[in-house]
Amino acid sequence: MSAVSETQSRCLIVGGGPAGMMAGFLLARAGVEVVVLEKHADFNRDFRGDTIHPSTLQLLHELGLLEEFLQLPHQEVREIRGIFNGHPVPIADFSRLPAHCKVIAFMPQWDFLDFLSRHARKFPSFALHMQHEVIDLLFEHGRVAGVGVKTPDGERNFLADLVIGADGRHAITHTKAGFEVREFGVPIDVLWMRISKRENDPPQSLGFFRHGKLLVLLDRGDYFQVGFVIPKGGLDEIKQRGLATLHRDIVALGPFLEDRISELDDWNKIKLLTVQINRLRKWCREGLLCIGDSAHAMSPAGGVGINLALQDAVATANLLAAKLRQGSVSVADLELVQKRREWPTRVIQSIQAFIHRRVVTGRESKRGDSLPLLLKLFLWFPALRALPARFIGLGPRPEHIHSPIAN
Ligand SMILES: Cc1cc2nc3c(=O)[nH]c(=O)nc-3n(C[C@H](O)[C@H](O)[C@H](O)COP(=O)(O)OP(=O)(O)OC[C@H]3O[C@@H](n4cnc5c(N)ncnc54)[C@H](O)[C@@H]3O)c2cc1C
Repeated sequence: MSAVSETQSRCLIVGGGPAGMMAGFLLARAGVEVVVLEKHADFNRDFRGDTIHPSTLQLLHELGLLEEFLQLPHQEVREIRGIFNGHPVPIADFSRLPAHCKVIAFMPQWDFLDFLSRHARKFPSFALHMQHEVIDLLFEHGRVAGVGVKTPDGERNFLADLVIGADGRHAITHTKAGFEVREFGVPIDVLWMRISKRENDPPQSLGFFRHGKLLVLLDRGDYFQVGFVIPKGGLDEIKQRGLATLHRDIVALGPFLEDRISELDDWNKIKLLTVQINRLRKWCREGLLCIGDSAHAMSPAGGVGINLALQDAVATANLLAAKLRQGSVSVADLELVQKRREWPTRVIQSIQAFIHRRVVTGRESKRGDSLPLLLKLFLWFPALRALPARFIGLGPRPEHIHSPIAN
């Protein structure tokens, strides 16, 4: 190890996204000395989803934070509708979910992360360092013993009994640990941009599907965060065809955007988000556990990745907090987290892969405005809408707070 300054703690968390902040909060609540390292200066980034699911609202309820949380500006959605080939179809009805809050709350993710970090800071054993980018793992006799970090004041080493990799899809933790990643090909990428909102626009949470294409609009107050699905690797071709063609493609799905689509007058206003589905074969080794997208990158399909990341964090605290409070944890302890969370991850990723094969392919599939049979079933039998509601709202094997509270 190098001779730069070193700090020692019981647990280090790499990444202050949903998985990292929730794990940090719960471990600190249990009295574990925990340090979260986040490379950005704030949580104010656009590339994340805005969905707070019934399962997450349930967790906040169990933590006694729900009332305060719901004071923050947000919108509640009881039913998710999609516009399929021009037909509105209700596809998920949350009203009969076995949960305290039977809604999805839409809130910019930075507000959610600010909320969690504000509460985590109340615990004396919690520390959050922003602008701390982990650039390396440190090893001692084959065990992960800490991380090398680029900070505004130069490089530093942080040592810990356990490093939790919650650093998302392009994780340095799983790369440096040499973990094997299984990629499940995804045929789409997403163009991410802002378009202004007007008074009589359709309500929140609408996805516009047409022949394999999809336009998603997230209501952010005075503008829509827009996601437009394109074939993977297709941006160069789209650029060659020109902005006017892209405008036409977007308006074909969301006709009410026609009067303002010209706001997208420069390619700089359009970001490319690459979509992946993958999963680590092993989520841990001695001294290191990966959770959230770092262990299993999720596609935006179904908008469930945040939920899954938070559920991983809860399972981590449930299984490890008491042991971490006493001392270090073994690989066998860490494997329990993978054992508990791998099955729900597999189920959701399989459904996402199915959606990409059959529903959202990014390519124009066939013409005609008829509804596929599956969607007709949602119209004919409203009770069926409870199934997607369960998948999106709670997910398989929902977690509950069982981690201890420090005296
Ligand atoms: C286009 C798109 C849209 C999506 N929309 C939705 C949606 O609407 N709803 C939904 O549920 N899911 C959505 N998802 C999936 C969702 O974004 C992820 O599943 C979820 O964010 C995973 O949370 P996480 O905490 O594991 O990782 P992340 O949210 O990726 O957080 C990782 C954190 O680690 C930090 N970090 C990374 N590297 C380092 C480093 N070296 N040092 C320090 N910090 C580091 C990052 O800055 C980040 O803050 C979407 C995904 C995509 C690609």
